[in-house]
Amino acid sequence: MAGLVLKDVRKTYGEVTALKNIDLVFPTGKLTALLGPSGCGKTTLLRIIAGLETPSRGNLSLNGEDITTLPANKRKFGMVFQSFALFPHLSVGENVAYSLTISGVEKKTRSKRAQELLDLVQMADFKDRRIGQLSGGQRQRVAIARALAQEPQVFLLDEPMSALDAQLRETMQVELRLLQQQLDITTIVVTHDQREAMTMADEIVVMSNGVSEQIGSPTDIYQRPETPFVASFIGKANFLEGTVRGGRVFVGDCAFDLEKPAPFVDGSPVQLVCRPENAELCAADATSANTLVGPVSFVRDVGPTREVFVETDAGRIICEMPSSDTTPVIQGEVTGIRLKSHALFCFPRPAPGNLEKTVEEAGRRENVAA
Ligand code: ATP
Repeated sequence: MAGLVLKDVRKTYGEVTALKNIDLVFPTGKLTALLGPSGCGKTTLLRIIAGLETPSRGNLSLNGEDITTLPANKRKFGMVFQSFALFPHLSVGENVAYSLTISGVEKKTRSKRAQELLDLVQMADFKDRRIGQLSGGQRQRVAIARALAQEPQVFLLDEPMSALDAQLRETMQVELRLLQQQLDITTIVVTHDQREAMTMADEIVVMSNGVSEQIGSPTDIYQRPETPFVASFIGKANFLEGTVRGGRVFVGDCAFDLEKPAPFVDGSPVQLVCRPENAELCAADATSANTLVGPVSFVRDVGPTREVFVETDAGRIICEMPSSDTTPVIQGEVTGIRLKSHALFCFPRPAPGNLEKTVEEAGRRENVAA
């Protein structure tokens, strides 16, 4: 099969299982983000792909050729680390040409290739500078140019923006994505930042506890999360606990209709998940379907949107409305809050311990994943 394919890859370190049965395909020419919380196995997976770790089980192939035991230096993969790992005693140009020097490429070709790469990452004017005389963003560009010097078949980046400040991160994410598209190179980026993954990736692999929870385009993952973990880790989400009866979900006495009847037998404990932009304020009528009632506890303006916190009997629900919506919202007043049927996700309810863990892993509080 074309592309980079991982079959049943597992990695254990003594008692610790870092990766469990990973099956993944990284399509040729696409950018895939490995996204997940700290300790979920992202770096281990990237290191196995790079050939810096050996899987305990399973195999890897590139365009149909088994590379499971191929040493890192024979894989022709380029890698950029969190720290950039540049040589401080060499100039920018020498850093970029380094791998070509090691491979015995002649000096003239080396300089020409280094020049092309520095042009590509817009660092040609800094060719003779030392690494210590560069900003974080400039160092990152040099690290990218150096990794691309050998025309890698696969480009691997481990948290490449983590050393940069928030504004520069955003700029570099766009630049890196444009560069990847221009070069059409198969790229895998490790990140724990969902916004970074959504900005850059064709496909996101959401990981948790050594498994891949969901694989899909940024839109798919956001619009159609397949597990509560994915719903809580990507974007914001309100969580409600309910029970299925006749295809509806009851949260206390309130009935919730979904786009299609809930696919669980009567009495099943389930979790409803709703994005804040799919909750809307309405009349405080506790008898209406999909509507909870409670006082507004907090309102905050966050630029283009306004977030309204409503404390219902089922817990806090956050509604996100456009700032252009001038409906008066008064702190302390009781309101209704309706969750739109078509945008409600229904999952089997995890055992209490597992739910806490899921929410904790995503760095969330109460029943709102913000
Ligand atoms: P982070 O975002 O914090 O870098 P990660 O998702 O990249 O985390 P990994 O570094 O892949 O996670 O680690 C996955 C699990 O494997 C963790 O529990 C980690 O402690 C464990 N682990 C990783 N490397 C080793 C090792 N060499 N020896 C023992 N355990 C390890």
